[in-house]
Amino acid sequence: MFDLLHTAPSTKARRGRLTTPHGVVDTPVFMSVGTQGSVKAVDPRELRELGTQIILGNTYHLHIRPGMDIIRAAGGLHNFINWPLPILTDSGGFQVFSLATIRKIKAHGVEFRSHLDGSLLFLGPKEAMQIQRELGSDIAMVFDDCPPHTSTPREFRAAVERTMRWAAECREQPRAPGQMVFGIVQGGIDPHLREECAKSLVALKFDGYAIGGVSVGEPEPEMFRAVEITEPHLPADQPRYAMGLGTPAQMVELVARGIDMFDCVLPTRVARNGTAFTRKGSISIKAGAYKSDFRPIEEDCDCFACRHFTRAYLRHLLNVGEILGLRMLSVHNTRMFVRTMEQARAAIENGTFAEFRRDFVANYVPTQKVLLARAAAADR
Ligand SMILES: [Zn+2]
Repeated sequence: MFDLLHTAPSTKARRGRLTTPHGVVDTPVFMSVGTQGSVKAVDPRELRELGTQIILGNTYHLHIRPGMDIIRAAGGLHNFINWPLPILTDSGGFQVFSLATIRKIKAHGVEFRSHLDGSLLFLGPKEAMQIQRELGSDIAMVFDDCPPHTSTPREFRAAVERTMRWAAECREQPRAPGQMVFGIVQGGIDPHLREECAKSLVALKFDGYAIGGVSVGEPEPEMFRAVEITEPHLPADQPRYAMGLGTPAQMVELVARGIDMFDCVLPTRVARNGTAFTRKGSISIKAGAYKSDFRPIEEDCDCFACRHFTRAYLRHLLNVGEILGLRMLSVHNTRMFVRTMEQARAAIENGTFAEFRRDFVANYVPTQKVLLARAAAADR
């Protein structure tokens, strides 16, 4: 199901192809986040025009609303949201541990109260896999314990043990036809815990492996470290996914560290406060400097927003609260993330990835605002 097509000299970058029941995904890939069954403000036709190959849905959120009765009756998530291409579903583990009020962690899952109405719910390996089977996603994620990055060594150890046990339970559950299941490696920045968790998951033979417990508010060096200590323990011939990451420059850096798949809420989240991603970093379109700037957001961008509208007009739309403004920024930002991975793929194929990475990172200035938004991205 995963073909490794090229590897880059002098870095760990890989060019691969993942075949799913709903089509092929070329990696490295940016996956747009559609937590509630919609990539915020961007419709499926636009997503396809932008080159989006695969989107995310979320077990926790979709299970609570609209509920599985509705999605089952619609014939699964692809039908319900009218998205014919691949879907990856997150298991809900992250949301249970970050959003919900936990009542009790039990041997086979977590009893918690819905963050919406306080109703008592239970989610464990069996339930998470059943929901993902009914959603009919192409890639399902195991139900894991994702502790905050500030946890104690004891808490990290307990989370890893639970994650390994629950992964084995997930592995036993029935799947939707052709559905792949990915394991999730936890363990903070402890190399021994990460190694132990990775090895036990690899022994269970999943279809791919995710690095979890990143993008949970930790500083960037810790995030890179978590990836660097995990990657060597993952099989080279299977896809690797860094969950919840990252900015364009971080994605390029993670591709260089051997990661194939990314998802991040930033492109649509920061669009809502007027931030646009460009090749040189992010800019605030609301700034006075763009009042009479009749250039597009980014000169050489091929997205609909850049082909049709100016910074001055988009700034006006944002300032008067017109929905079109945030929609166009979401379109541009999503295209920028998707294109960055297209360029990374081309560079790996041409044998020029090391130069691409050097130039990309040298030209890209991360802004404080975006880094703060990333810290707030914990509710993905
Ligand atoms: Zn654009």
